[in-house]
Amino acid sequence: MRLASLILFLSLFIVNQQAQAQIPRRNRTPEIPPPTILEYKPLSTLIVPEHEVPRAKFPTVDFHGHPPVLNSRSTIQSVVTAMDALNLQVIVQARGSSGEVLKRQIQAVRAAGQEDRFVFFTTVDLRNVGPGSGPRIASQLEEDVTTGAVGIGEIGKGFGLLTRKADGSRLRMDDSELDVVWETAGQLGIPVFVHTGDPAEFFEPLDFENERWLEMALFPNRRFNNRSRFPEFDELMEERDRMLEKHPNTTWVLAHMSWYTQDLGRLGELFDRFPNVYAEVGAVLYDLGRQPRFARDFFVKYQDRILFGKDSFQPDEYSYYWRVFETEDEYFDYYRDYHAFWKLYGMGLPDEVLRKVYYENALRIIPNMPKDGFPGQN
Ligand SMILES: [Zn+2]
Repeated sequence: MRLASLILFLSLFIVNQQAQAQIPRRNRTPEIPPPTILEYKPLSTLIVPEHEVPRAKFPTVDFHGHPPVLNSRSTIQSVVTAMDALNLQVIVQARGSSGEVLKRQIQAVRAAGQEDRFVFFTTVDLRNVGPGSGPRIASQLEEDVTTGAVGIGEIGKGFGLLTRKADGSRLRMDDSELDVVWETAGQLGIPVFVHTGDPAEFFEPLDFENERWLEMALFPNRRFNNRSRFPEFDELMEERDRMLEKHPNTTWVLAHMSWYTQDLGRLGELFDRFPNVYAEVGAVLYDLGRQPRFARDFFVKYQDRILFGKDSFQPDEYSYYWRVFETEDEYFDYYRDYHAFWKLYGMGLPDEVLRKVYYENALRIIPNMPKDGFPGQN
């Protein structure tokens, strides 16, 4: 009996060894020193059709625009020149300015004769919230909307992660003091553009199985995995969802597709649950481009809920978005290697969906949008 067990043990051991040997690298050591993660840059030998897309197929609204402060004619003109080359018709200034800074930009854009190319969102000051803050923020909001703001945002990721109340505690996104602010936005008919959290991996241990190891290693301020300082990713999202739930008459736009692009089904559930919620695609192209078929189906299904946005204003990066959305190209580079070490594929979105994502949805949810330059809008 003991011999039988020993034979069984040995045979299992041998089978296990063989299985391991079949997994490349598992127990082989390179005979020459391996490169580091920074040194290994293999050039693809794949030759397939390539279709560069320098200009978007349709005029586009960048819902997540971060151009410089638009307070001088020369700055405005240089941004417009870059926009023309990309077929960006309107940029939402989501830099978040309020009061005088907002007023000066709106005046400068009008003086430059470019009021058809920019719209402005205002920001809300969420620092040191305490009793009475809500009505005060809401009245500043009303003032900024009178000045010409057509939305709130971008509300940065600090809201939920870092922003403190007057009493020193973390300002929770569903804090009831802020209810009046979100209700006022609903009454004014303006969208609230909010960035919550960051990629879920940033909240996970920084180990060699983390897909964002390199980015987290490069940027200390992208590590949210210290549980004594930051809430968990899911906790933050639940808190955000309670805020959405309390304000069904407010239009919400979630920046970066709520960082759910590695699990689009989860975003679909959110869309199904909250009909007043939209999502913006900035800075998550690396995820969409690695699941072109599933992402295409998702965009077709939720074509009325997705808005184009880019986040940082780097004119040479927009064409990567056009290429992923418009072509069926295969295995091409992304523009930022620390976001993704993999290649992108085109989603080949139908024209009907492209129009909605590029401009029709934005024109529907942002009040007083300039309509000139968009097909079929006059
Ligand atoms: Zn942003």
